[in-house]
Amino acid sequence: MENDAIPHLPEFNDAALDKAFSALAQQATSEAAAIASAEDAEAFRLRWTGRKQGRLNDVSARWLKAAPPEAKKAVGERFKMLKDLIERLVDESSSSGPTDAVLAAEAIDITLPGTRRLLGAEHPITRTLNEIVSVFAALGYSVGVGPEVETDFYNFESMNFPPGHPARDTQDTLVVASQERRPQRDRLLLRTHTSPVQMRTMELQPPPVRIVIPGKVHRNDAMDATHSPIFHQVEGLCVDTNITFSDLKGTLDHAMKAFFGSSVKTRFFPSFFPFTEPSADVQISCIFCGGKGCRKCKHSGWIELLGCGMVDPAVFAFAAEKQPAYDPKKISGFAFGMGIERIAMMKYGISEIGQLFAGDMRFLNQFV
Ligand SMILES: [Zn+2]
Repeated sequence: MENDAIPHLPEFNDAALDKAFSALAQQATSEAAAIASAEDAEAFRLRWTGRKQGRLNDVSARWLKAAPPEAKKAVGERFKMLKDLIERLVDESSSSGPTDAVLAAEAIDITLPGTRRLLGAEHPITRTLNEIVSVFAALGYSVGVGPEVETDFYNFESMNFPPGHPARDTQDTLVVASQERRPQRDRLLLRTHTSPVQMRTMELQPPPVRIVIPGKVHRNDAMDATHSPIFHQVEGLCVDTNITFSDLKGTLDHAMKAFFGSSVKTRFFPSFFPFTEPSADVQISCIFCGGKGCRKCKHSGWIELLGCGMVDPAVFAFAAEKQPAYDPKKISGFAFGMGIERIAMMKYGISEIGQLFAGDMRFLNQFV
């Protein structure tokens, strides 16, 4: 029907007019429905409403103007309706909305699964740390934290490592550079243990104290399978009147049973730490072989896990400078500490400490 001429009407009665006009209306409607692009829409507009060759123009010339006077009104009414229809179709087809083809190209399949955000999970270090802390929290201990960049005083001197004392050499320390003009006790270093928080807590709070201190510590250790320059500790401190070594043994025995299972046994060996006197190393019966002896416990049946002891009176003397209630003649206490990596590696069968810090998702996903 492209560019076909509008035929002259043979008659102008109502039936002939209805037939002729409705044929044009149907043609326009079906052409409008087939429009798929802006070019199609423009062609449609020109074909029907163009000033020279537009079909409406032809209809007006051949039907309306040629109509006998008595039929002018009937033709005019129908022409007006056809013109309104064409104008509406032109408006709809040329509006700025996207065409079907564009819509199809941009369609989103809402039945496809969306982009999932992975839920976070605890790192094995964090999980082990929280589990140990919760054992002591159940015993009434609160949690203390402190700075990782610490002064020599809190990290060493107040913990009874006097300047020049050989015990300092056992903790290869990372110190902040260019502090030679400061007094030694004010010089900054990366804390080598969480013990400074013991002193910071006692300075703020008179006895009784029951606190566990989880945290990151730093030593200038070369990386190997079991050593890392960064690792984590949980320390504990209990100070009150009449605290004895029996309280220490009972507390740690209970804690190890709560953490590793009620069949675990503990035993204590004399040791040395500057900030406790007497001091002890704590072993637990091997959690892998139950004490019979295996490769993990080097066939001894026991695994060394903790250091502990009764707080040295010299440490209380430093605390008493700010809190006189820490009088070693009136109060006593115990402290203990353990390395988190060692416990996590044992619990989860990890052979390289570096895997805990490498951030490799293939490793970490195993603990989700
Ligand atoms: Zn064993």
